[in-house]
Amino acid sequence: MDCLQEYELLKQKVLKHDPQADISLLDKAYGLACAAHKEQKRKSGEPFVIHPVAVASMLADMDMDLATVIAGMLHDTVEDTDLTLEDISAGFGHEIAYLVDGVTKLKHIPMTTKEELQAENLRKMFLSMASDIRVIVIKLVDRLHNMRTLQYVNTDSQITKARETLEIYTPLAHRLGMTKIKWELEDLCFKYLEPEEYARLEKQIDQKREEQEAYIANVLSELRSKLDEAGIEARLDGRPKHLYSIHRKMVTQNKTLEQIYDLLAIRVIVNTVQECYTVLGIIHEAYKPIPGRFKDYIAMPKPNMYQSLHTTLIGPKGKPFEAQIRTWEMHRVAENGIAAHWKYKEGRDYRATDTDIKLEWVRNLFDNQKDIDDASEFAETFKMDLFTDEVFVFTPKGEVKVFPAGSTPIDFAYSIHSAIGNRMTGAKVNGEIKPLNYKLKTGDFVEIITSPPPGRGPSRDWLGIVKSSEAKSKIKQWFKKERRDENIERGKEAVEREIRRLGCTQAQLMRDEWIQPHLARHHFGSMDDMYNVIGFGDVSAQKFVGSLYSEYQKEQAADETVQNAKKIEQKKEQDQDRAYSESGGVIVKGLDNCLVRLSRCCNPVPGDSIVGYITRGRGVSVHRTDCPNIVSMSEGENRMIDVRWADKSRSSYVVQIGVKAVDSRTLFMDIVKTVADCNLSMLAINARKTRDNYELVDLTVEISSRDELDRLVRRIRRIENVVDVSRTVR
Ligand code: MN
Repeated sequence: MDCLQEYELLKQKVLKHDPQADISLLDKAYGLACAAHKEQKRKSGEPFVIHPVAVASMLADMDMDLATVIAGMLHDTVEDTDLTLEDISAGFGHEIAYLVDGVTKLKHIPMTTKEELQAENLRKMFLSMASDIRVIVIKLVDRLHNMRTLQYVNTDSQITKARETLEIYTPLAHRLGMTKIKWELEDLCFKYLEPEEYARLEKQIDQKREEQEAYIANVLSELRSKLDEAGIEARLDGRPKHLYSIHRKMVTQNKTLEQIYDLLAIRVIVNTVQECYTVLGIIHEAYKPIPGRFKDYIAMPKPNMYQSLHTTLIGPKGKPFEAQIRTWEMHRVAENGIAAHWKYKEGRDYRATDTDIKLEWVRNLFDNQKDIDDASEFAETFKMDLFTDEVFVFTPKGEVKVFPAGSTPIDFAYSIHSAIGNRMTGAKVNGEIKPLNYKLKTGDFVEIITSPPPGRGPSRDWLGIVKSSEAKSKIKQWFKKERRDENIERGKEAVEREIRRLGCTQAQLMRDEWIQPHLARHHFGSMDDMYNVIGFGDVSAQKFVGSLYSEYQKEQAADETVQNAKKIEQKKEQDQDRAYSESGGVIVKGLDNCLVRLSRCCNPVPGDSIVGYITRGRGVSVHRTDCPNIVSMSEGENRMIDVRWADKSRSSYVVQIGVKAVDSRTLFMDIVKTVADCNLSMLAINARKTRDNYELVDLTVEISSRDELDRLVRRIRRIENVVDVSRTVR
């Protein structure tokens, strides 16, 4: 087909899609392309212009809008001919010029790459540079046409192009949901990269083809008559198989061709969604469906907006086959992905901002998010690519480097090597000298100008200019290392200043026990290390001194508390000493300086429950609460007063104990021995016999606490024949 014929076909396609289209503008573009590329030939020997016409035609096949089709027609003019962007803009308007410019810029990305990471960066760069998705669509179609005609170039170029296509273009097509282009590109790459494997697989499939096709044809004709009966207009296909995807499955899943290719597939394309479900019913009636294999992607579209009904059935001779049922609209989306998007905007202004278009596409992705795994993968890459806050720039060697948006040539220099950054004196961006605070743009080629080693080093201002944390830390590193002495001096000064500001002295704050943990916590080997860090500004003197100051305050507060407590304690002791000296170890509530004595009748000892009795003229006498005398004294007169034992009592008290026992010759000796065993001094002891023949022993001992008394009483009780032990009251 010659060029003009192809062009006539293209016009029909455009008009079919958009009867209002401005065909005169398309004619003008065709004329311009023919004239501009007049001298050029393709490798095949044909006139070059058949390439842009083919690209425009493929874009029209995808129902792209007129601007995209015309931009496709003109896509190689600015790069390869004398035409300028201004010419395009003047003749075709801003939008078309913008698209042509986008495609032209992408040509400057050096696509040869060896590493996977680089390929990923290149793809990202590609997306971020193409500010309009239509630019990518044109670029993919351009590449597809070049791949289709790759037989005319030499083998080396074939391999280079095919590899580049597989690494950069097919993943992009995949992400944009442009399945049809992706599959064709993959098969073409496969053919050039692994020609033997490709040929072998093709032959194998060919051998089975007859059998397969006969089987499919049988199913399709059965189905055709049933659909005719139901009055449904449909296109029926045996689904095409893609060699590369079969090859990939065989390799990655380690399967034979039979295992993969055995599943036959058909596709039914109808006009309405209603018909999709009707066809599903007809198929399920004609063939037995395999349970669990039905998927309704119409009700629940895939995240990339793919919609279809999938079901697997048992066909003739018990052979299973898969059926996909969809509308034409769904078919377009399945094949063209994001490119199908422009159809939805039909009748509306195409010149919506590209951000709107991107946003709508991404919103669609999220709205239809059902299959989470798939969705997150897809949406993730989209978010990253379309709302990137990264810039992608080139090294002089064509390597891609990624930086946070807003990065400068300084960031770039440090990403190459610290030494480059430290010796940097200037930068060239796209061949022109730029200031160091120039903001890098995606696609920039950056070259760093350095002075000979050792260089003068970075400036402190750079810390405020750079964006990447890598550059920041490397610059700080330099100051830490190269300006150590200076930093230490600055650091010391700053610390001293701060101490003075807080109104303290060095001696008050710079205490070893506070500084050492601080050094250890921040992994400083010495005070100088820390002064260094403070000196060049990584840690503020305020922060460091502040932490010492808070320790100091804590200590001050603690000191005060301790001293207060001590004072209170002392006061108490003094009080008690006085009480002790004046009262024999008893404190009288509410009365200071009164005369107190322990009663001789019941001899209370510390620990005993006691009560005071206000005597006439002889102060307060202290009795045990169970003293019979006090009980009789309290009657009629309110002269009782609360008393308590002072915490610190006097050292010895005299108590009297009475022991009652049945006749026992050794009792007297046993008691004396027990008192001695308890380490107590016996003041008096005497024994007598009662009329009813009990032995009674009264003893007077000196004790220092109630505990001693209790212990003594317990031991005396254990003496043989003792029946009772009691405190005696005179
Ligand atoms: Mn081209």
